[in-house]
Amino acid sequence: MARLTPPAIVILGAGALETARRIQMLYAGCQVHALQGRVEADVPYTELRAHLCDLYARGTPIIALCAAGIVIRCVAPLLSNKGVEPPVLAVAEDGSAVVPLLGGLAGVNVMAREIAAALTVSPAITTSGELRFGTCVLNPPEGYALADIAQGKRFVSDLLAGESTRIEGEAPWLDDAQLPRSESARLAIRVTPRAWDGRDDELVIHPRSVVAAVTVPAAGEQSNTDTNTDSGANSSADRQTASGARIAAVVREALDAHGLAPLSLAALLVPSEHMANPALASAAANLNVPLRFAQPGPEDGEPPSNLLHAALRVPYQTLHDDADAGVALALAALAIDPHTIGRARGRLTVIGLGPGSADLMVPAARTALNEATDILGYETYVKMAGPLRADQRVHGTDNREEMQRARHAFELASTGRSVVMVSSGDPGVFAMAAAVLEALEEGASTNADWRAVQLAIVPGVSAAMATAAQAGAPLGHDFCMLSLSDNLKPWSIIEKRLRHAAEADLVMAFYNPISRARPCQLDKALDIVREFRAATTKVVLGRDIGRAGSTLRTIALGELRSSDVDMRTMVIVGSSTTRAFANGIDGGEWVYTPRWYE
Ligand code: SAH
Repeated sequence: MARLTPPAIVILGAGALETARRIQMLYAGCQVHALQGRVEADVPYTELRAHLCDLYARGTPIIALCAAGIVIRCVAPLLSNKGVEPPVLAVAEDGSAVVPLLGGLAGVNVMAREIAAALTVSPAITTSGELRFGTCVLNPPEGYALADIAQGKRFVSDLLAGESTRIEGEAPWLDDAQLPRSESARLAIRVTPRAWDGRDDELVIHPRSVVAAVTVPAAGEQSNTDTNTDSGANSSADRQTASGARIAAVVREALDAHGLAPLSLAALLVPSEHMANPALASAAANLNVPLRFAQPGPEDGEPPSNLLHAALRVPYQTLHDDADAGVALALAALAIDPHTIGRARGRLTVIGLGPGSADLMVPAARTALNEATDILGYETYVKMAGPLRADQRVHGTDNREEMQRARHAFELASTGRSVVMVSSGDPGVFAMAAAVLEALEEGASTNADWRAVQLAIVPGVSAAMATAAQAGAPLGHDFCMLSLSDNLKPWSIIEKRLRHAAEADLVMAFYNPISRARPCQLDKALDIVREFRAATTKVVLGRDIGRAGSTLRTIALGELRSSDVDMRTMVIVGSSTTRAFANGIDGGEWVYTPRWYE
């Protein structure tokens, strides 16, 4: 499925922030990118030209709150390459003008109208067809697909040259368009699931109105039906892709036998017991449609058409029912919203937000958040994950019971929701990923639904990495990460590990260094370390790194007191080789541990 990337709103100064925030409300997952040092928003950038080029090259829609000329000059070097062309708009920073610049076929005019409506101004539309007809004929709404863009362009230029058109089929979105219509016209806009036959007097638009139900646990599908990760050895992935391609080919043949266009397909429907079968996911990807699941009952008839009976909530006509090939096709009168067909495979994605600032969150985590229906986690982190959409359910909790939270996540995901569990930093470092896996291992034997959940863990920038990077490279040689919290392990183990790590001359990163409940433990820990390390050993203290009001200090081990540290601090204790020198900027220093050892 073509996934719409949320637009980036790019601003240069504080004067544009209010307008930017108003536009932001229109688009899910949309962030405001602000020039560092001038204004703070969601994502900082340092250089406008480089930033716009980067966004453009990734196909991210751009809403730049600055002069149109600046935007054009910035992206100009990329324009000769006709590859991706995301929508690009310039908006006056006071919201008084909305100018679509690029991405006509990617919906820039639709965005211009949306933004202009929100700002109560008129968009500066310059596309002849749109001006004349009040809509972009080549940009049908969701649920419809244009058969052939080149033919579409010819068709619109014929209309602009003065011809009229008939409309055949249901095209409700064209009701208000000012198209030159005539029943006797040579040209026709035809809305049909049937494949275009190549006639150049027709503009064919396909409603996504066909559902293909498939029951073959396809040939080539070995024992992999039970796995619930999508990774694996290459050869097995290749096998799944190959059997996915075979299933897709069977569906295409069935469509073809009825003269139906592949673009008319709304979804691939399969039995729920195959939820974790990667070959079916690969078939759906191959056909570029969502994969949906149904659990037919005895009253639903014989496979594969029983799937249609169990899952389709609109009247339809069964066009094709071939039990041997395992394919049945249903045709509805209008486009079908795939979300209403059966149910989706539930997903649970465990993400790390990084230390705090949006630019230190990996893009895969942002994507997971954008796609989430439900977000779970400790309240502070859920807030950090925002802005969230009104339709996203937040299950914020102060609940310290990690296992309970992990089970809750599986319960939600196994009903077909897309659940994201948030941790700070990296989810696998003293955070939720391990609890989620423990819950799965414990619960899966009694709960087959949990095993069908599509589980993924997305890494993040851990506090030790973020702190180390600000200080220089104190983790440049062997190091270890230790949590000083004895909530989940006995203090005696912590002491033992500290002693061994200190003796082994490892650099040590302390997580959870201190808390109100255990104020004296850090001092005890430091006493142990001091038995093995010189008082001059470099220690880095990073507090709230990547968040507002962050501080970074270096201090000698001999001078470090537990009052210098709190629960929001990362403590990195250097090894015997960790060194520092003045950074020559602000009286601070670079700290690093050389790559070599004597
Ligand atoms: N999963 C997290 C760690 C959770 S444990 C990660 O990978 O970073 C919580 C501890 O991490 C805190 O007590 C503190 O020691 C450290 N920490 C988390 N975020 C931090 C930040 N932004 N700055 C400094 N330390 C941080």
